[in-house]
Amino acid sequence: MPTDMWCDERFDFQGTFLQCLAKHVPNIYSAEMDPLLEKQEEMVQAAILYPLECYLFGEDPDIFLEKLQQSGTSQLCGKVFKGGETTYSCRDCAVDPTCVLCIDCFQNSIHKNHRYKMHSSTGGGFCDCGDTEAWKAGPLCTKHELGSSSSPKENSECQLNEEIMEHSRRVFPSVIKYIVDMLIWEEEKELPPELTVSREKVDSYYCVLFNDEHHSYDHVIYSLQRALGCELGEAQLHTTAIDKEGRRAVKAGHYASCQEAKEEIKRHSENVSQRPLHVEVLHADVMAHQKFALRLGSWLNKLMSYSSDFRQIFCQICLKEEAGSEKPCFISKLMLWDAKLHKGARKVLHELIFSSFFMEMEYKKLFAVEFVKYYKALQKEYISDDHDRVLSVTALSVQMFTVPTLARHLIEEQNVITTITETLLEVLPEYLDKNDKFNFQGYSQDKLNRVYAVIYDLRYVLVSKPTLWTDRLRERFLEGFVSFLRILTCMQGMEEIKRQIGQHIEVDHDWEAAIAIQMQLKNILLMFQEWCASDEELLLRAYRECHKAVMRCSTNGRSREKTVFHLCGHTLESRPYRVSADPVSIHLPLSRTLAGLHVRLSKTGAISRLHEFVSPEEFQVELLVEYPLRCLVLVAQVAAEMWRRNGLSLISQVFYYQDVKCREEMYDKDIIMLQIGASLMDPNQFLLLMLQRYELADAFKKIKPTKDQDLIKQYNILIEEMLQILIYVVGERYVPGISNVTKEDVIMREIIHLLCIEPMAHSAITKSLPENENNETGLENVIDKVATFKKPGVSGHGVYELKDECLKEFNMFFYHYTKTQHSKAEHTQKKRRKHENRDEALPPPPPPDFSPAFSNVVRILNCDVMMHILRTLLQRAVELETHLWTEAMIQMVLHLLSLGLLEEKQQLQKSPEEEVSFDFYHKATRMGSSALNAVNVLMLLEKLKRVPQLEAQKDTVNWILQMFDMVKRLREKSSLTTVAAASASEAAKGDETQSTQDKEKAERKRKAEAARLHRQKIMAQMSALQRNFIETHKLLYENTLEAQGKEDAIMEEESVSSAVDYSKIALGPKRGPSVAEKEVLTCILCQEEQEVKLESAAMVLSACVQKSTALTQNRSRILELSGDTIDPLFMHPDLPCGTHTGSCGHVMHAACWQKYFEAMQLNFRQRLHVEQIFDLENGEYLCPLCKSLCNTVIPIVPLQAQKINSEDAEAVAQILSLARWLEIVTVRISGYSVKNAKGEKQNLPAFTNRGMGNSALEFHSILSFGVQSSAKYSSSIKEMLILFATTIYRVGLKVAPNEADSRIPMMTWSTCAFTIQCIENLLETEGKPLFGSLQNRQHSGLKALVQFAAAQRTTSPQVLIQKHLIRLLGVLLPNFKVEDTPSLLEVDMFHILVGAVLSFPSLYWEDAVDLQPSSISSAYNHLYLFHLATLAHITQIVISSATESSTACSPDNSEEAQSAQSFCREVCQYTSGCFSQDIPGWLVWDCVKKGIMPYLRCAALFFHYLLGVSPPEELLQDSEEGQFKALCSYLSLPTNLFLLFHEYWDTVNPLLQRWCADPMVLSCLKGKSIAIRYPRKRNHLIELPEDYSCLLNQASQFRCPRSSDDEQKHPVLCLFCGAMLCSQNTCCQELVNGEELGACTSHALQCGAGVCMFLKIRECKVVLIEGKTRGCLYPAPYLDEYGETDPGLKRGNPLHLCRERYRKLHLLWQQHCIIEEIARSQETNQIFFGFNWQLL
Ligand SMILES: [Zn+2]
Ligand SMILES: [Zn+2]
Ligand SMILES: [Zn+2]
Ligand SMILES: [Zn+2]
Ligand SMILES: [Zn+2]
Ligand SMILES: [Zn+2]
Ligand SMILES: [Zn+2]
Repeated sequence: MPTDMWCDERFDFQGTFLQCLAKHVPNIYSAEMDPLLEKQEEMVQAAILYPLECYLFGEDPDIFLEKLQQSGTSQLCGKVFKGGETTYSCRDCAVDPTCVLCIDCFQNSIHKNHRYKMHSSTGGGFCDCGDTEAWKAGPLCTKHELGSSSSPKENSECQLNEEIMEHSRRVFPSVIKYIVDMLIWEEEKELPPELTVSREKVDSYYCVLFNDEHHSYDHVIYSLQRALGCELGEAQLHTTAIDKEGRRAVKAGHYASCQEAKEEIKRHSENVSQRPLHVEVLHADVMAHQKFALRLGSWLNKLMSYSSDFRQIFCQICLKEEAGSEKPCFISKLMLWDAKLHKGARKVLHELIFSSFFMEMEYKKLFAVEFVKYYKALQKEYISDDHDRVLSVTALSVQMFTVPTLARHLIEEQNVITTITETLLEVLPEYLDKNDKFNFQGYSQDKLNRVYAVIYDLRYVLVSKPTLWTDRLRERFLEGFVSFLRILTCMQGMEEIKRQIGQHIEVDHDWEAAIAIQMQLKNILLMFQEWCASDEELLLRAYRECHKAVMRCSTNGRSREKTVFHLCGHTLESRPYRVSADPVSIHLPLSRTLAGLHVRLSKTGAISRLHEFVSPEEFQVELLVEYPLRCLVLVAQVAAEMWRRNGLSLISQVFYYQDVKCREEMYDKDIIMLQIGASLMDPNQFLLLMLQRYELADAFKKIKPTKDQDLIKQYNILIEEMLQILIYVVGERYVPGISNVTKEDVIMREIIHLLCIEPMAHSAITKSLPENENNETGLENVIDKVATFKKPGVSGHGVYELKDECLKEFNMFFYHYTKTQHSKAEHTQKKRRKHENRDEALPPPPPPDFSPAFSNVVRILNCDVMMHILRTLLQRAVELETHLWTEAMIQMVLHLLSLGLLEEKQQLQKSPEEEVSFDFYHKATRMGSSALNAVNVLMLLEKLKRVPQLEAQKDTVNWILQMFDMVKRLREKSSLTTVAAASASEAAKGDETQSTQDKEKAERKRKAEAARLHRQKIMAQMSALQRNFIETHKLLYENTLEAQGKEDAIMEEESVSSAVDYSKIALGPKRGPSVAEKEVLTCILCQEEQEVKLESAAMVLSACVQKSTALTQNRSRILELSGDTIDPLFMHPDLPCGTHTGSCGHVMHAACWQKYFEAMQLNFRQRLHVEQIFDLENGEYLCPLCKSLCNTVIPIVPLQAQKINSEDAEAVAQILSLARWLEIVTVRISGYSVKNAKGEKQNLPAFTNRGMGNSALEFHSILSFGVQSSAKYSSSIKEMLILFATTIYRVGLKVAPNEADSRIPMMTWSTCAFTIQCIENLLETEGKPLFGSLQNRQHSGLKALVQFAAAQRTTSPQVLIQKHLIRLLGVLLPNFKVEDTPSLLEVDMFHILVGAVLSFPSLYWEDAVDLQPSSISSAYNHLYLFHLATLAHITQIVISSATESSTACSPDNSEEAQSAQSFCREVCQYTSGCFSQDIPGWLVWDCVKKGIMPYLRCAALFFHYLLGVSPPEELLQDSEEGQFKALCSYLSLPTNLFLLFHEYWDTVNPLLQRWCADPMVLSCLKGKSIAIRYPRKRNHLIELPEDYSCLLNQASQFRCPRSSDDEQKHPVLCLFCGAMLCSQNTCCQELVNGEELGACTSHALQCGAGVCMFLKIRECKVVLIEGKTRGCLYPAPYLDEYGETDPGLKRGNPLHLCRERYRKLHLLWQQHCIIEEIARSQETNQIFFGFNWQLL
């Protein structure tokens, strides 16, 4: 279409636009089944959008938009959150918790330094930066502040010129109309006439499948495969697209065929789920236009961000109603259609609303008005919709309702509170029973969840309380409140229950829904009360309405005749009702709201005007009290087990009734209602009512005692429960309005009582405190006043401890204590007092004074009925009618007495005696009756002290008696003198009691001292016993320090006695003796001891073999997953992947272990999911003692002690030079090659002739320097040698076990070398000395491993071992060459050393006799092999460091430096100058000295464990300098290592030449390839940022490498290598060996050889995984300021890195304990069985 055509002012835009669309759209979107998205987009731009923009802007769109862009950004951020994005809220400044910031705005805001919370968005919200109503302070981040201040408000955005405005007004209506028309288009086959092209209609249709929340992924895939006969892959593709877009064409074709497919899909989907899938057949053109409508929507969306003018014009058009038409405007049409739209369309629509209406405050308001206008309809649509709430337009409510001015406007103008409450009533009628009460039996959870959304809206509207009331606001609010009362009326008394007698109920009824609604309503109820309380007039009127509503509901039982109840001269007339027989409900929201309003009346003082609104006759306090009282009685009866036949549902309801989530608007309010009753009723009447409702009237009358034990027990519990409630009614005054306390006081008291139980973590306290509407508990404001914080260690969490001065606030009968908490707290506090040598009395703390409105409550303490109750119970205790009283009951009686005395004392201290009418003392000292044997309370108390069962209460009784005394004196004194005198007398009286108290104290102290001494004595005996026990069971306690110290002592002893004679040299003729102690071990299974001997039955050590990349120097190297073709003889110097053998150090008989293993196999095969803990097939089991995961055992082979005769050694030294030794070895090997020449020919060395001239040498020469017969192992040891070697082979190479494989010996040497390298690395990282600091398990594991590796040779054919040896020697020996010998730079020298040393004895093997070298021969063999390997290693180091830039070391001209210099000259010569001669000698020496250390340390460990020669003392300490010398001495090396070359120059020269001539070496020296540097770098877990936000920030930038969509991802960080992965998502699954693996699992195979450690960033959890089936979660090393971790970021407090914990994770990795940790966690947390680790 030519652009200029649109430029004509007179032309009909709408017509042209539609024509253009009609022509192009069907063509562009023709290939729906397999769209070429880029092509489509190109065509859309060229044919439609570009011309459209040109017309709209009047110039080139790109240039125009660029200008617009620069001219200013909006003051609002408005960034829309995707699911999983992190949002921040400021607890100090946000108006409510729904006000959030995006990460960019947050980082640039002042809130960064406030108390903030971070959370993961569920999607759909947007950033509130710039919204002044959302923030009390700092509404703008620096970024947006700039945008708003750079230009004055009016010009803040580029004003569009009039022409563009004019065009916009012309273009937008057509565009919007087209979008609306197409989105709500319902015809499947036809288009609107204006879009129909005249051409022939083609029969081209799509069968379109829609997304819903009923069908799982698998259901849809199944249905598609069956219905369309398509491949799994295709079905998966469709399903993913449907889930993402909301709909997808799954078949194209003629109408009939699509229709057929539709029916098929429906039919198949019905088979797997109750509902069919939603499928439609759409004409291709319809589909195309709908698709394009969405494209236009996102086009508009983009346009909106450029200019406020665009937004305003857009909004105006969307809101315009057709004149004279009742039809809704465009935007309302779309809202109403929302629930019918598919997912993709909804997203576009909602984003458009965000970017236009919500960015312009004025239009947001207008939008809100429209929204509320259709609120009911929208909510109803949502409730029957099947999409998640985030996808519903109703979810936008929070964006409007929480804005205070908007909320107020909506209340005033749209009556939004009434609208919402009416909506609730309209969506819930199906749950109303015949009495118009709710009943949620058989409710649908999903549907109720949707109803909660409406309740939430109510909460949003009420979030900010108005500060200024207008008449209109007051009227509307009251109207809403009355409407809300109608809902409460439907709840008052709902779900009544009746006590089940005889049979147990059959089905527990559904109680959850009602309780859940109660929870949802809790804060709304509180907010309504707060709103009412902010205006006196309103409060009184609301009270009247609420009172009326309560009265209307209190008609129950009116029909019954009143009965009369007499007790001690008082009578009560009431209508009969029994909780145990009549229906009762715990749902009384109306009564409780009234109680809430009542305390607010009292608080504000408005109560004095109450009579103007509710007349005293109408008030009927008995009726108000009645229902809450019944509820409390129900709780008591449940405690007395009278309702046990009603099942668990009742227990749960009672639990929630008192639980922190509900109690504020349930239990607490019922107590308040009783307090209202007690303040307004005659006290005796009140107590009679209590007695009657608790069904205890008979229990306090003198009737003949019953023998029914159950009934007595029941009575006792009911009495306890009633007394407890009486204590609460009188004593619980921490409610603003009941007394003059503040909210802070209330919270402090809660915290004090929690901490009286035990010190608690911050989160635990938070959980036990009620949250307000902003999810705040107020904890932080007060915690420091009452508690001190104790920091956590490496595990556990920080806790708060109560300050001492707060202990006096402790009230044993605190009404929020559960029974367990009560007794725990009592126990803790008594223990504490005892510890301080004080009495154990825990009297109540003096309560605050009641407010005037409640001051009458105390009268129930000194009324006749109360006295009767107290006296009766005390008398029963004194008269020892054991079955009629309990200690708890007496405790409560004492508590009530204390409260009475405290009250009287306080009153007397405040006012003159004659004004104090509260006469508790008088009543309590009055006789109970006129009878002769009558007693008073005081007398009873004296007697009580002598009751043996009440010994524990003696201190309390004493305290009360003293109080009696004090009150008596106060009464007497004050009648004579002034109040001041009274207090003086008190002091005097204090002195008096002081002396008796002192005496008691002294006595107590004496007793305590005696007890202490006694304890000490017993402790001493105990520890003596324990020592003996440890002595005899030493091996069981290997890990304890004590045992360790002892073992060290043994070593010391040996060395003291022998150090003089014995050298501490491991190699060569001066070799020291083996220190081999006799080993007697205890089997952990049968507890029998056995000495380890060659010929005895085998003992084994539990062990775990695993592949490891812990030492790798190159993580990018691709590991081979299967070892079928790997040749493991040579280890690459990168150490990419080794085989580690670890042990927990526990010893068993081989036979015992086998029995245990078989039994476990049998046992576990029957258990479910076991395969996920143990891989039984692969020999896994848990160590019977410590439960570590093991997969094999190491046989314990004893060290063969050897000692060299020094004379022999000297003799040999004369002859056996290195040159001679080489010749002998060469002759021996060539002899073998002659012998074996007939057989295989490959891989035999080619011999150079150098030095071979001596005819004296022949094949057997090698034997002449000393041989001995080979060790004879018992068959059981042999069997275990084979078993263990096979495991190493199987695990290390990931192949099927094969005892005959030739690679078994190689793997044995390899794991031996690798494990030593790991341990050396660990010791170095931890800064520990080489010897003496290993954990016992490491020590015994290593010892067994090395001895095993030496012995393993005997179980393999010696010819095989020789073959391997020859290949190894090919690297080291100058005089022969083996094919395929790797270059010097491609081998790890320590691996070669270990292999060569362990295989060398095979050269002594003769057909007839099994020989091995004698000690002296070995000493030389070891020495020369080690020297050759060391020479090779030095050469490696020198070559690889050739390119190193000089370090800071200062130059010197030492002997070493000179030797180095001359060595370099040689190398330079042999490499034809590739090696630069200019490198200073001192630098080379420095490199060598540093680089060779790990190798020397490993060699020292190896030879020590092989030979048992004690190391020099220096190696038992951690000192850098001494260490090098000591190592050289132990290993028979000159400290100037280059002297080795000098000494052997003639022999070594050709070897050096060969090494240097290697092409690889040359290429490295030329800088063409890079060789590994020495020392190798030590691996660490990656650096983590200090602040967790940084990680979240990183994660928010994360884009999945495989897919471009912006769906929610789970970014996961590999802690080994720092790779960020896309976890738990199909896009990044990989097919490995035919199995679908998640991104983490497949990464772990490469990065950690199957074992890996990840950080799930959005959840703040560490994941450890092993293989495909196992894993566990571990808390991330981040702590909040309270020393707690936050898995799942549930609390959202700022988190900081804890270095110690991260180090612990590091060690877990380097010690190869990850597998162990996983196994242990899976044993304890069976929850993770269900998790599919494979797809992680
Ligand atoms: Zn933002
Ligand atoms: Zn901002
Ligand atoms: Zn702030
Ligand atoms: Zn045993
Ligand atoms: Zn163990
Ligand atoms: Zn990694
Ligand atoms: Zn992905």
